[in-house]
Amino acid sequence: MIANIRLQMPGCIDFGAGRRSSIIDYIGTSERICLVCDPFLRNRVADDIVPALSDKGAEVVIISDVIPELPVDYIGAVVDTASRHKPDTVIGIGGGSTIDCAKLLAVLVKSSQNTYDVINTGTVGERTVKLVTLPTTAGTGSEVTPIAVVTDDEKKVKKGIVSPCLIPDAAIIDAELTVSMPPHVTAATGVDALTHCIEAYTNRYAHPVVDGFAREGIRLIMNFIERAVNDGADMEARSSMSLGSLYGGLCLGPVNTAAVHALAYPVGGEFKVPHGVANSVLLPYVMQFNLSSCGDKYVSLARFLGTEHGGEELAQDFIHRVREISRRCGIPVTLKELGITESDIPWMANAAVGVTRLMNNNPRPVTEDDAERIYRNAYRGILDDIHGDGKK
Ligand code: NAD
Repeated sequence: MIANIRLQMPGCIDFGAGRRSSIIDYIGTSERICLVCDPFLRNRVADDIVPALSDKGAEVVIISDVIPELPVDYIGAVVDTASRHKPDTVIGIGGGSTIDCAKLLAVLVKSSQNTYDVINTGTVGERTVKLVTLPTTAGTGSEVTPIAVVTDDEKKVKKGIVSPCLIPDAAIIDAELTVSMPPHVTAATGVDALTHCIEAYTNRYAHPVVDGFAREGIRLIMNFIERAVNDGADMEARSSMSLGSLYGGLCLGPVNTAAVHALAYPVGGEFKVPHGVANSVLLPYVMQFNLSSCGDKYVSLARFLGTEHGGEELAQDFIHRVREISRRCGIPVTLKELGITESDIPWMANAAVGVTRLMNNNPRPVTEDDAERIYRNAYRGILDDIHGDGKK
């Protein structure tokens, strides 16, 4: 029997090159708008999007100083600024950090809750402000998810807040907005999207309806990421990556991620390693750890990507192929390359197993000793560790 599932997503998903112009369809006349955008976009937004909104009588305030990986204290400051404007609508245009900022702003700006109420309890009361998102990276899928992730600098960890109130009313995915991404951001955010799809497909709570999104996302990203990194103006590659990222985002609400993300949280929280890089480094080593629980799924993915010959060894080959993609895209493939030392591993393992929201989704249970072993393999670059004992 097929397990129960609830799919919740934006009321409208508007996908296609140039579709950012449709933003006016989601805005009423004479609305008060807070537009949260990445700093690099401020001029472009002012020239391109604000005039269209103003033509509809909108009064627009732009907030464009979003800090990547979204520190908790920053959100409070944004809410204070925005609440003076009393917005009807919040628009988020940027990478995952900016979109998550817009999401939290939309729930907090007219709420009696403050940032810490939401972050400490993980509970969001309600959202009375409209929310529209436009991603400029092809990675997080945040434009469609019920999640916002913040960095708690005091505790040196990242925290995810999950609520249906964080699902935008409309998401506009226009790959033209991703063209300006430099190669290293394209690479890291692209492997983040790949991680979402792989962790959903191999998840303990995997579901056939989400498997469809995940498999197609994996196919698109693995086939197009190198092209997008090598030639940012390649629109076929860019739109394929944006679609792959959207599929990854659609996996996150109903099934979500697992040990890769849990293990990446201390890496991002303490060492300020960008989210996509942290995931990318850990992904192959977690896949190796999970091989005994979901090797058949790796074989199925390898065949889906077009490998006709081979048996069980396809699973191991698939893991190597994933690490090779990161290497060819110029992303570090060991924790050592990120400046992390082996003496950091015990506390990171302790913090990672505490991320039970994600660890519980992993196909193979991860103890603190296992987490240390995975980190050590990721530190040393040991991949064919079939027995999980640090030896090849
Ligand atoms: P980001 O938003 O942090 O952006 C990374 C850098 O790229 C920034 O300097 C940004 O200004 C720049 N940038 C973004 N788009 C650009 C473009 N088109 N051209 C040039 N530069 C551009 O990166 P991200 O990986 O998209 O987001 C990471 C954040 O999202 C992390 O905090 C992560 O935890 C979170 N996240 C959220 C969800 C969710 O569902 N809410 C899912 C996964 C990750």
